Amino acid sequence: MIGRDLLSMEDLSREDIEKILDTAAHMQEIGQRAVKKVPSLRGRTIVNLFFESSTRTRMSFEIAGKRLSADVINFSASSSSLSKSESIMDTARTVDAMDPDLVVVRHKVAGVPKIIADALSAPVINAGDGAHEHPTQALLDMLTVKQAKGRIAGLTVTIVGDVLHSRVARSNIYGFIKMGAEVRIAAPPTMLPPGIEALGVKAYTSLRQAIEGADVVMMLRIQMERLQGALFPSVREYSETFGLSRTKLRVAKPDCIVMHPGPINRGVELSHELADGGESVILEQVRNGVALRMALLYLFTGRPSKDEEVAALGEETK
Ligand code: ASP
Repeated sequence: MIGRDLLSMEDLSREDIEKILDTAAHMQEIGQRAVKKVPSLRGRTIVNLFFESSTRTRMSFEIAGKRLSADVINFSASSSSLSKSESIMDTARTVDAMDPDLVVVRHKVAGVPKIIADALSAPVINAGDGAHEHPTQALLDMLTVKQAKGRIAGLTVTIVGDVLHSRVARSNIYGFIKMGAEVRIAAPPTMLPPGIEALGVKAYTSLRQAIEGADVVMMLRIQMERLQGALFPSVREYSETFGLSRTKLRVAKPDCIVMHPGPINRGVELSHELADGGESVILEQVRNGVALRMALLYLFTGRPSKDEEVAALGEETK
């Protein structure tokens, strides 16, 4: 995968996903050591270009890069020349001129990581673009499910909430379907993207029906920052119809796990008892996020170093 971009779950084959999840499982062991560092990416430079706010994803990419001994540079929009109205493309070209080996991009507008990827020589990983995709979240979710259930194929995974604006939902739909799970979607009619069944999911407007017999329930945050106009009557009504509590979860499989990408609106999409209960794997998702991103950096980083280029040239001219 060296040198490839990771912009969408559609970029990955089933074999790619398996390789990433297996590599992440090896990376987990490094996080358990007293000295959490290996030299795999020593001398490589990774730039985190975050034009939109982030807690988990940005920290996790930073920790992942540092555990692999890369030099990690964090760029955030508010402290950069963007606030002096430099364009995104000029910022991207400036970053490219500093010869990074991989660039991680988050932006509130769908498609920006692709535009930047086309302009850069280094590989680009999409860390979330608008309502489009968040592939690294989907991969860490798949790792969490695989480790909790021992498999992905054949499981019933229900995704609940603001599917219309959720990049997490879109990436997980592509990923879980590719890996052979049955994916169900539950949302108020105003938050169900028209024609979503074409992606291979079953769509419901009843939470109860959607979670009946489910192995995994993934709750989504209402994307207030992306809402244009009122899509539900009130937060209270949303939480009564689409919020998950332990009582409502009873129709799922007895060993059903509950997921959430964070940040959680406690008491809105998820009750406190569930967020902190034994069914919840939410902190496991965060923990797995570091190992998963270590795997991605390890597998995708690589614009060959000048030494390697010279060595390769030598080989070619022999
Ligand atoms: N943290 C996830 C994202 O960036 C989920 C969310 O914000 O609701 O998309």
